[in-house]
Amino acid sequence: MDKNTLWKSVLGELELTISKPNFTTWFKGTYIISYEGDRVVIGVPNTFTKAWLEKKFRKVIYDIFQKITQNNVRVIEYKVETRRQGENKPVQHHGTEQQHQTYPAQNMADMGSPAMPHSQPISPLTERRTNAPTAHASDIPKELDAFQLNSKYIFDSYIVGKCNELANAAAKAVAQNPGTTYNPLFIYGDVGLGKTHLLQAVGNHIRMERPNTRILYVSCEKFTNDFIRAIATKNLNNFKKMYRTVDVLLMDDVQFLAGKESTQEEFFHTFNELHQNNRQLVVTSDRPPKAIPALESRLLSRFEWGMIADISTLDLETRLAIVTSKCHSKGMSLTPECIDYISRTIHNNVRELEGALNRIHAYTQLHSTDLSLEDIKSVLSTIGTVQKRDAVSVPVILRTISEYFNITEEELLGKSREKRLVYPRQLSMYLLREEMRSSYPSIGKELGGRDHTTAMHACQKIEKLSKENEAITNDINLIKKKLYA
Ligand code: ADP
Ligand code: MG
Repeated sequence: MDKNTLWKSVLGELELTISKPNFTTWFKGTYIISYEGDRVVIGVPNTFTKAWLEKKFRKVIYDIFQKITQNNVRVIEYKVETRRQGENKPVQHHGTEQQHQTYPAQNMADMGSPAMPHSQPISPLTERRTNAPTAHASDIPKELDAFQLNSKYIFDSYIVGKCNELANAAAKAVAQNPGTTYNPLFIYGDVGLGKTHLLQAVGNHIRMERPNTRILYVSCEKFTNDFIRAIATKNLNNFKKMYRTVDVLLMDDVQFLAGKESTQEEFFHTFNELHQNNRQLVVTSDRPPKAIPALESRLLSRFEWGMIADISTLDLETRLAIVTSKCHSKGMSLTPECIDYISRTIHNNVRELEGALNRIHAYTQLHSTDLSLEDIKSVLSTIGTVQKRDAVSVPVILRTISEYFNITEEELLGKSREKRLVYPRQLSMYLLREEMRSSYPSIGKELGGRDHTTAMHACQKIEKLSKENEAITNDINLIKKKLYA
């Protein structure tokens, strides 16, 4: 098998194993540089992708290679290198080509073929700034300049866990190399999960590193209002000048473009103008591009050009880390028991966690004593979401899983090793561990008196599979939704 055919087969398999955004994000512009003996060298567009493939996809890729080559491939290496369409020669990484008009569609054929043009770094923003000394942040009207960035929203204060590591890594990559790495970067996730925080962190980082960069953070609503006002006051030229000459456009909540035809069109042209000039775009949304209703297909395809990163349901570990960190920054010292209780009780989003901590903080100020677990419980009981969360217990988890898989609880806890029962059983053990922090012996006991090693094995297995298999992640998320609904 020649190397191109081989890579196409590998990508074909990969596409079935991982989610579409993940697939497009990580495998666009990759190809096999060489395939000799048992060694394959894969070309990737940048160091960020290299690190990610090595860290996150090593095993999946290895297994697929093994399968396709009947165990012939044993060594897989990654090298930062891209080549242009139709060429075999690698492209230098300091090029200044401008090739933006011809983005190929992102289908399988393209995935296997040489790098997309926009994966090549082109004229970094810094260079442009030194060439254009007249352009300064102060050129932007006050209301539109970077001072709108909240200095609180920085990478240092953003806690990274399983649920947001992709979005965080992508945002950092963009902040370090605006206009070159991923353009646009599209971040989506439910409300209160830190999209605005990340978006502004990108802006704050760039502002620190490249003070002359013109950064514009704007909510989609403000963009819409500005546009409408510009039409009404016949000031469209000024509007265009403002929005189309920035170096970095950070647009929050683009889902509000839904159904707004002329605003979408204006944004489309803004997007093109900026993108063609290698200006960085980062947008956030509460849903993936495809799920935004009435979004023009040409805009949809623009959003899908770059990188799409999601922030998923908060896992307990991340919640614990967030609570610990926020307590620390408020100068509050709570016992691990209290921190644990808060993190399990408030699970929806970080905004709610912050709200709860603010209440607790106010309470400590008032009473100036160390809070006991009972105090925390009574403070939190005034918050609506809490009662529901308290209801989640071992029996509730087991019942929810039985219902989800349409099996009886007897079957779930029983001895049968039928496939349709084994997976739900392992998932139960995993969720007891994740959501209740139960010990392995007690998990084994709850699941029909099994050994603690069985429980440990099950948890590890699901943990591992969930990283590779989208269907499993999906099951976990849906079950969690049911648990907390
Ligand atoms: P979204 O824009 O997704 O609705 P925000 O970015 O406004 O959410 O986040 C809500 C609040 O939670 C903000 O105060 C933000 O700083 C905080 N927050 C969200 N995610 C994190 C995180 N991972 N680490 C620390 N704080 C976070
Ligand atoms: Mg927001």
